[in-house]
Amino acid sequence: MRIIIIGAGVIGTTTAWYLHQAGHQVHVIDRAAEPASETSFANGGLLHASHAEPWNAPGVVGQLLRWIGREESPLLLRAREIPRLTRWGLGFLRNSSRSRFERNTVVNTRLAIHSLRRLQALRRETGIRYADSQSGIIKIFRDAVSMEKALQASRLTADLGLRFSVLDPRQATALEPALADVAHELTGAIYYPDDESGDACLFTRRLAALAQQQGVEFEQGVSVERLQRDGDRLSGLITSAGPRTADLYILAAGSFSPGLARQVGLRLPIYPVKGYSHTAPVNGWRDAPTIPMIDDANKVVMSILDDRIRMAGTAEFAGFDTTLEHRRADNVFRQVLKTFPTLEDRLTPADLTPWCGLRPLTMDGPPILGPTPIRNLQLNTGAGHLGWTFACGAASLVAESVAGSEPSIPLDGLGYNRFA
Ligand SMILES: Cc1cc2nc3c(=O)[nH]c(=O)nc-3n(C[C@H](O)[C@H](O)[C@H](O)COP(=O)(O)OP(=O)(O)OC[C@H]3O[C@@H](n4cnc5c(N)ncnc54)[C@H](O)[C@@H]3O)c2cc1C
Repeated sequence: MRIIIIGAGVIGTTTAWYLHQAGHQVHVIDRAAEPASETSFANGGLLHASHAEPWNAPGVVGQLLRWIGREESPLLLRAREIPRLTRWGLGFLRNSSRSRFERNTVVNTRLAIHSLRRLQALRRETGIRYADSQSGIIKIFRDAVSMEKALQASRLTADLGLRFSVLDPRQATALEPALADVAHELTGAIYYPDDESGDACLFTRRLAALAQQQGVEFEQGVSVERLQRDGDRLSGLITSAGPRTADLYILAAGSFSPGLARQVGLRLPIYPVKGYSHTAPVNGWRDAPTIPMIDDANKVVMSILDDRIRMAGTAEFAGFDTTLEHRRADNVFRQVLKTFPTLEDRLTPADLTPWCGLRPLTMDGPPILGPTPIRNLQLNTGAGHLGWTFACGAASLVAESVAGSEPSIPLDGLGYNRFA
């Protein structure tokens, strides 16, 4: 079958890989000059089944409202955005009940664990390297209530195979000596040995190059302008380089998927939640952190990507505005300093490379995978804050869906039909 994939982020590129492996003729179209130029470019780098719960935890909406307009807060809701958020926001609110949150946590964690296994298999099969590390992830806590909430979420998913161990501050420092400066502030930590990290952009570009060598066509620098529908099928695409047709189409355009889907009558409840990162060199530091970290209280993550440190965080509800506001990016760095204060002396402002991107967040948390009412259009989008983690799992599930074979994990809670 000839398949067109719209979008060459980590999601579209992995989808191309698995569909090509299944024997299809795959053509990827992306408006950027290279794959992974948008949200997959400089994310936190964590592959974390341990942190797969949706953002709409019970109580989050109150927190969001308290933080309206507060530039220093990890979650920022811009007042001007509230009118545009109504429909998605109500859905987000509806899904923050305890029962829905727990159900979606299970859906996401199952997909994340499956995805890590697929990534490991891909590594074995191809030898692909991407500044990857398999040293697990440590989540640190500064108060007992937050630590207990995280433990509850981990216990909820332990049956799915999520392994973790609880550490007191002394044990946490023994595992990660770089935490020594703040050990006295910590309530404790949870260590997830099966989590991983790596550079999503490097991975995507290297996988795209491998796929190209094997015959997948990447048409970069071409924008999809219009989806054309004929009854219950797509008849083709209008792109900036002319019309394109295929037997089947996969929409993997991240935060821009809803705009394209709307042209053919599909409503995707996805909102672009802006986040920031900073990347800096760690050349020659003997005492650099070695284990990727999630700081629960300050809502930031840190990973070591070979000789670079990546710090990421903040969630800003500001629509499609991708302006890089240095104050927000620096806020991420300041939050990381609370755990690694010596970074301030070691890094000059010139060492820090800021970046921002839009997380394609669904209103309930899980991504949207597989068939739509349009028979030759499938989806792989809406991976939110977890697209790097979900990539190989989501892509291989879509390839199974295209083949019509039995899915490797239950698809409940992942399909477009849940919004019908
Ligand atoms: C600050 C931050 C930190 C994050 N940290 C992590 C993390 O630690 N772990 C994790 O798992 N996830 C993380 N994420 C989330 C993750 O980065 C995203 O979920 C993931 O990159 C989404 O991938 P995607 O392929 O769906 O979207 P994108 O990477 O945005 O790809 C979509 C592609 O579609 C193309 N496109 C869009 N519209 C069109 C069009 N009309 N025509 C042609 N092409 C089009 C774009 O050019 C783009 O290349 C983070 C995100 C942010 C912002």
